[in-house]
Amino acid sequence: MTAPQQIITRIAPSPTGIMHIGTARTALFNWLFARARGGQFLLRIEDTDRARSTPEATQAILDGMRWLGLDWDGDAVSQFERVPRHAQIAHEMLARGHAYKCFASQDTIEAYREAARAEGRSTLYHSPWRDAPAADHPDAPYAIRLKAPQTGQTVIEDAVQGRVTFANDQLDDMVMLRSDGTPTYMLAVVVDDHDMGVTHVIRGDDHLNNAPRQAQIYRAMGWAEPVWAHIPLIHGPDGKKLSKRHGATGVMDYAQMGVPAAAMRNYLARLGWSHGDDELFTDAQALEWFDLAGIGRAPARLDLKKLESVAGWHIARMSDADLMAEITRYLALTGQAPLSHMQHDRLGTAMYCLKDRAKSLPELLEKGQFALAGRPITPDAAAAAQLDAVSRGILRELTAQLQHASWTRDTLEATLTHAAEAHGLKFGKLAGPLRAALAGRSVTPSVYDMMLVIGRDETIARLTDAASRDG
Ligand code: GLU
Repeated sequence: MTAPQQIITRIAPSPTGIMHIGTARTALFNWLFARARGGQFLLRIEDTDRARSTPEATQAILDGMRWLGLDWDGDAVSQFERVPRHAQIAHEMLARGHAYKCFASQDTIEAYREAARAEGRSTLYHSPWRDAPAADHPDAPYAIRLKAPQTGQTVIEDAVQGRVTFANDQLDDMVMLRSDGTPTYMLAVVVDDHDMGVTHVIRGDDHLNNAPRQAQIYRAMGWAEPVWAHIPLIHGPDGKKLSKRHGATGVMDYAQMGVPAAAMRNYLARLGWSHGDDELFTDAQALEWFDLAGIGRAPARLDLKKLESVAGWHIARMSDADLMAEITRYLALTGQAPLSHMQHDRLGTAMYCLKDRAKSLPELLEKGQFALAGRPITPDAAAAAQLDAVSRGILRELTAQLQHASWTRDTLEATLTHAAEAHGLKFGKLAGPLRAALAGRSVTPSVYDMMLVIGRDETIARLTDAASRDG
C-alpha cells in the first residue's frame, strides 16, 4: 500500500501593490484545505513582471497574509529567481519533441493576425516552423512553442466547475520561452507548481482558460497533474465584478476599518463556500468543515452589512486578551498612538462590558472611551449640559460617601440610589451627570461598570473634577 499523498496547496499572487480580497479569499481556501489535512500551504510571489514587482508590492502581500493570520510553510518562493529552471524545462521539452523552435518574428505574427481578422478567419497563429526540418532553421533567435495536440479535446476535471472540455483546434501552440529567453507565465506556473509538489491548484476562475494549456505541459512532461479547483470571483453588491467602485478591495482596507482578522477569515470563507446554513463560525469549525465540494459555482457577492454582523459576533466571543492584541495592532496600523500601560489595563478590564455590542474595533474603542480618557475629562456639549449646579452638588456629596463604600456593584447601586432619593430624584436623573463626570459623554456603558473598571480613586477624582466645574 502506498502512503497517502501529502496535500500541498499554494497561493501565487502577482505583486500589484495591494493584497486584493479575492487573493486573500483564495489564500484562505488553500490554507484551510491544506491545514486541515496535515498538508502544506506554500507562498509563491509571481514577480516576473519586473516593472510591477517592487519590494513594496511584495511586502504588501506578506503584510496581508500575516494580518489575516495565514501562515505559509518555508520561505516565500520568488518566481523570478526560478527563470533558469523554466528555461531548462522549455529546452527539455524541445529535446523530447514536445516543443519546437519558432523563428517567426513578432511582426510576421502580427501581420498574419491582421490579415486573418480582415478575412474573418480565426486569428490563432499556426507557426510554419512546427514541422520544419532542423536543416531549414536559420541562425536566429527563436521562441520555444509547445507542440500542442491539434485535434481532439483537452479535458479538465475541475473540483468546482465539473468537467470542462476545450477543443484543441481552438488552442494555439503557445509560446513557453520567448526569443529573449524569458519564460511565459503559462510555463512558469506549471514548472513552479510541479517543483513545489503542488497537489491542488485552487484559484480564481479567471484562470480556468489557462488550465487546458497548463495541463498540456503537465501531460507532455509526464508530470502528475494537480487537482484543479477554479473558484468563482467575488462580485460587488450589484452583481458586477468587484472593482474599486464598490469600495474597499484590499484586505488591508478592512484591517484599517477595524475588522478583526478572525472575523475577516469567517467572512471570506463564506464568500463562495458554504457549510449548510452556517454563517458564523470559528477557525476550528472552518478547518473541520472546509472542502472543495462546498464551493459554489455562482459568484459570491460582497455584503458589508453581513461583514459587520460577522465582526460583531467575533468581537463578542473573542477572549479579552485576543481583543487587546487586535486593538494594539489596529492602532499601529492606523497610525494612532499606542495605549499606555494604564489604558491597556483599564480597557482590558472593561472588555466584558464593551464587547457584546461593538461591530468593529473603532466602535469598541469608542465605547471604551471612558477607560482610555485621562483627567480632567472634557465633557462634550450634551454631557456638559448635565452638569448643572444641582447635579454638581450631588456629585460633591457623593464623593464623600464613596470614600468608604465597599467597591462592589451592590454597594455602589445602593449608594447611588440612596443619594438620588435623598434629593427626591430617581436614579435615572443622576445617571446623566455621572456619565458626564466619568466619561464626558451621555452614551456610555453603565455607570456601575465604569466605576468598577476605573476604581475608587479615579472615580472620586473624576466626580470631584466635575463637581468643581464653573458654570
Ligand atoms: N499570479 C496569478 C494571479 O495573481 C495566479 C496564478 C495561479 O494561481 O495559478 O492571478
